[in-house]
Amino acid sequence: MAMKIDAGSCSACGACEFECPNAAISMKGDVYVIKASACTECDGDDPKCSAVCPSDCISKA
Ligand code: SF4
Ligand code: SF4
Repeated sequence: MAMKIDAGSCSACGACEFECPNAAISMKGDVYVIKASACTECDGDDPKCSAVCPSDCISKA
């Protein structure tokens, strides 16, 4: 399971990238993407990436 970024809503602010404990988030083109194989959904805790996203565009894939 992994979280996914809605590319249409991502403003590329970069806030999520530094919150991820697994370095699963990186910039790709004009937006940020989550590498599904690296995302653990924060192991059952509230996903740190979606907690800081000002555009509320990170949700479960
Ligand atoms: S849910 Fe957690 S592990 Fe997955 S991308 Fe977000 S911060 Fe990283
Ligand atoms: S925090 Fe949200 S808006 Fe900012 S780069 Fe990440 S997904 Fe995009």
